[in-house]
Amino acid sequence: MSESKKEVLGFQTEVKQMLHLMVHSLYSNREIFLRELVSNASDAIDKLRFVALQNPQLLSSDSKPSIRIRVDETAQTITISDDGIGMTRSEVIDHLGTIAKSGTRDFIAHLSGDQKKDSQLIGQVGVGFYSSFIVAEKVTVVTRKAGESADSATCWESDGQGEFSVESTTRDQYGTDVILHIKPEDRDLVSKFKLKNILNRYSDHISTPILMLKDEYKDEKMVETNEWESVNEGSALWTRSKNQVTEEQYKEFYHHVAHDASDPLCWTHNRVEGKSEYIQLLYVPSEAPFDLWDRESVHGVKLYVKRVFIMDDASQLLPRYMRFVRGVIDSEDLPLNVSREILQQSRDLRTIRDGSTKRVLSMLEDLAKNKVADYDKFWALFGNVLKEGIGEDVGNRERIQKLLRFVSTASSGVASTTLEGYVSRMKEGQKGIYYLVAETPEIASRSPLLEIFKKKDVEVLLMGGPIDEWLMQYMGEFEGKTFINAAKGDLDLGDLSDKEEKEAVEKLQTEYQSLIANFKTSLGEKVQDVRMSLRLTDSPACIVSDPNALSPAFIRMMKAAGQPVPENKPILELNPNNPLVSRLQEDGKFDADWAQLLFDQALLAEGEQLADPADFVHRLNQMLLKTVTTENLTKN
Ligand code: ADP
Ligand code: MG
Repeated sequence: MSESKKEVLGFQTEVKQMLHLMVHSLYSNREIFLRELVSNASDAIDKLRFVALQNPQLLSSDSKPSIRIRVDETAQTITISDDGIGMTRSEVIDHLGTIAKSGTRDFIAHLSGDQKKDSQLIGQVGVGFYSSFIVAEKVTVVTRKAGESADSATCWESDGQGEFSVESTTRDQYGTDVILHIKPEDRDLVSKFKLKNILNRYSDHISTPILMLKDEYKDEKMVETNEWESVNEGSALWTRSKNQVTEEQYKEFYHHVAHDASDPLCWTHNRVEGKSEYIQLLYVPSEAPFDLWDRESVHGVKLYVKRVFIMDDASQLLPRYMRFVRGVIDSEDLPLNVSREILQQSRDLRTIRDGSTKRVLSMLEDLAKNKVADYDKFWALFGNVLKEGIGEDVGNRERIQKLLRFVSTASSGVASTTLEGYVSRMKEGQKGIYYLVAETPEIASRSPLLEIFKKKDVEVLLMGGPIDEWLMQYMGEFEGKTFINAAKGDLDLGDLSDKEEKEAVEKLQTEYQSLIANFKTSLGEKVQDVRMSLRLTDSPACIVSDPNALSPAFIRMMKAAGQPVPENKPILELNPNNPLVSRLQEDGKFDADWAQLLFDQALLAEGEQLADPADFVHRLNQMLLKTVTTENLTKN
């Protein structure tokens, strides 16, 4: 059979299935055809560059390789031409008539035949060249392999229905033209303006120049000239070396990738070589994105493979607790038609994710060390997101712990205390890192539970809210020190409480036996226990929890979430040195209202809601009435 004859062949079954499905399900995404064809053109140029390393005579010396896109409004065609490696006749038949990649083939074999279900799946595989048929009723490919003669070119043509034809032809230069005969309903695409827009979105960072014919005003009309102009940057910013990119350019690029008009707080730009090769350019914003608290929201790091944009929502590139990060990761190893499913199992991706996570941590460490004010800003915006990493990323826990900032009894209201700082201030014999969680750090700071710590001059971390409550379940240890909840009933101050103190507390329990019994009778089911304590210096009473029980803040959180809450009765501790308590003891005349009042008051001090506030107010007023006389009212 003579090769110049026109040959008509059938597509492989899988191709037919794929074409059918694709045209029906990817229509809403129709502009992806351009990204696919430009990416193939760019690949072909890269391949030629690669083989020319061995065979330099393959390259024509006259001009720089480019991708050229022409629009013909009369013929209603779009032509994408490249100076790439081209294809031989048998390559054309193989590449544009079958699906070679086993991954895609497997995928197609698993299609259910249920169009609705399959439509959702097709978006996950790379559709490549065949995506041309989303917008074209006929596709013509003219290609000549580098190194072959001008008359050995091949013309491939198909309407995407089931067959294609191949025929010999001529082409002046090696390379490929893909001519799309656009469907009547897609003729709006036959416009340079429209195509430039699409290129801008998807292909601006292709490093090969993409050229289009320049328009010019002539006799008050816009006419096309014969002059080519580049419509892309031609070199992706992240591929340049750091010293070739100005601060302004980094910021410009951030505005573009993050869709954020404000400047970033900081960024990190690295080329990683080794097991996996990739470039990362990652930014921390200076404003919180509106969907920060939506853990499922779209992630801000774009995935590129060899300068070709792959996907926006690459949630697997960084852990969720880094969802504030924006930027680009460009891999040399991942396949170009990578799908979300492939990504999930990719070892290269895991390497990239681990490496990028560590990079972001280094960037934050650097900010914390060298730009304290900026780090404080970061902490205020994203600190609560970063905290999630303590539970989520055990491998990096210690590094994340060092990035945490706390309000503490030593820091006067601002979150500036670090764990390292705390440990350096620990007292001799101090057992661990004390913390207290309330509704807010501010409420925690006024808790009577802190009195003993003030007396002993021991620092306590003051925390607030459900995130902190959650955080403390996962903190484990820091530099060998355990975290101790200051609200727990068996508070052990280690060597800080001396033997005499412990004995004194023991003695108090017997001394105050009858008062304790009275309190217990009055409060009944409301408390688990009542006891004397030296934990307080000023307040008459405080509430502590069973060392094994859930903390009050945690229970509040469960209640708010409508969860069933396990019974957790508080323990009331009384301060023998408080005049109210000592008078109750001396007096012997015990009033059940006093017990109730002290109990409610202690609950209030912890930020608790009283079961019956009106009852509390009524009781308080009754007590006031008993003590207030006309005489002492007028005194001051
Ligand atoms: P992929 O690019 O992922 O391999 P495509 O469906 O986009 O899948 O392309 C299939 C194959 O067709 C390519 O691998 C390549 O061998 C060949 N091909 C497509 N376009 C060109 C081109 N412009 N120049 C040379 N070869 C091409
Ligand atoms: Mg391709």
